[in-house]
Amino acid sequence: MGDSAIVWVCREMNNDHENRALLDGYVGVKFEVIQRSEEPPSQAAALYRVFRGVGDWLKAHNMASVNAGKLSVRYGRGLLITASGCNLGSIEQSELVFVEQCDAEAERVVYDGPLKPSSESIMHWLIYANRPKARAIIHAHDEFATRPELLAGEVVESLREEPYGTIELARMAIETFQRTERIIVLKNHGYIAIGPDLDRTCNLIISTHLHLLEKSRNS
Ligand SMILES: [Zn+2]
Repeated sequence: MGDSAIVWVCREMNNDHENRALLDGYVGVKFEVIQRSEEPPSQAAALYRVFRGVGDWLKAHNMASVNAGKLSVRYGRGLLITASGCNLGSIEQSELVFVEQCDAEAERVVYDGPLKPSSESIMHWLIYANRPKARAIIHAHDEFATRPELLAGEVVESLREEPYGTIELARMAIETFQRTERIIVLKNHGYIAIGPDLDRTCNLIISTHLHLLEKSRNS
């Protein structure tokens, strides 16, 4: 690590669960982030078109609300993920961040790019580690993911709610993926889908969304 590395330590959120819940509207990362370089990765420009296309697709289904949702793909030994606070409906090229190292126990993330990586970078990292075949992860919201009566028999839901950006939420996602293959709902929150690429992963989320929309109309 060179001297020029910039270190932010976001420890406003201590280990007190209640405090975390109270502050959950906060937009930002809850772990230590270390910027190794301001330069984005070399292939980010080519991948940007794919990220942008998928963001537009989600937006077309009202699934890209402001500052919510995350996209990532495996990239080299790490992952390429949308920046913290990124709006999926209008992703900028500078909002693709390379997470090259992640220490979940120490809650530390090392990245390349001009902006800080998503608050859920550790979750994405752990999902890729647990699912060797997954090459893309999408997290998105709609009004149906928070309706258990619609989800019943359709999508596996996590057992508990946990505050965003925490290791507890990351672990909850991993546990929930042990009960199903490709798509889960984080309780009272939103979907996480995994797949071989962003397009097919997005297709899964949107088809699930459309199916639940249909179900809601018939219920
Ligand atoms: Zn979310």
